[in-house]
Amino acid sequence: MSAIDTDRFRELLVEERKRVVAALQNLHDDHAGSLTEESGEETAFDNHLADTATETYDRELDYTLEENSEHVLADIEAALKRIDDGTYGICTSRGEQIPVERLEALPWATLCIDCQRDRERR
Ligand SMILES: [Zn+2]
Repeated sequence: MSAIDTDRFRELLVEERKRVVAALQNLHDDHAGSLTEESGEETAFDNHLADTATETYDRELDYTLEENSEHVLADIEAALKRIDDGTYGICTSRGEQIPVERLEALPWATLCIDCQRDRERR
């Protein structure tokens, strides 16, 4: 028994996955295109970055973003799998229902707030 409308969360997760995949694609394109002149909307932005002395910093920032995005992507995939398995919205630590408000804020949450806090304290 679940009070959670998993269809709605599946939609949210699929949308978010699209967004993250697009963001990752952009990051990859930036890296691949840095040595060549590219056509398309992002050219002006790329050239602007290449012209600044902070290029190395920007590149490092990109990698951090990429790492985070890949992490989120894995979380989203896992959440979609939990919807298929019928375990979506259940705290993976103690097995209680994660409040819907928390899932609204973080659809790929695997822990209720209490367990999340416990984990962060360690
Ligand atoms: Zn919990």
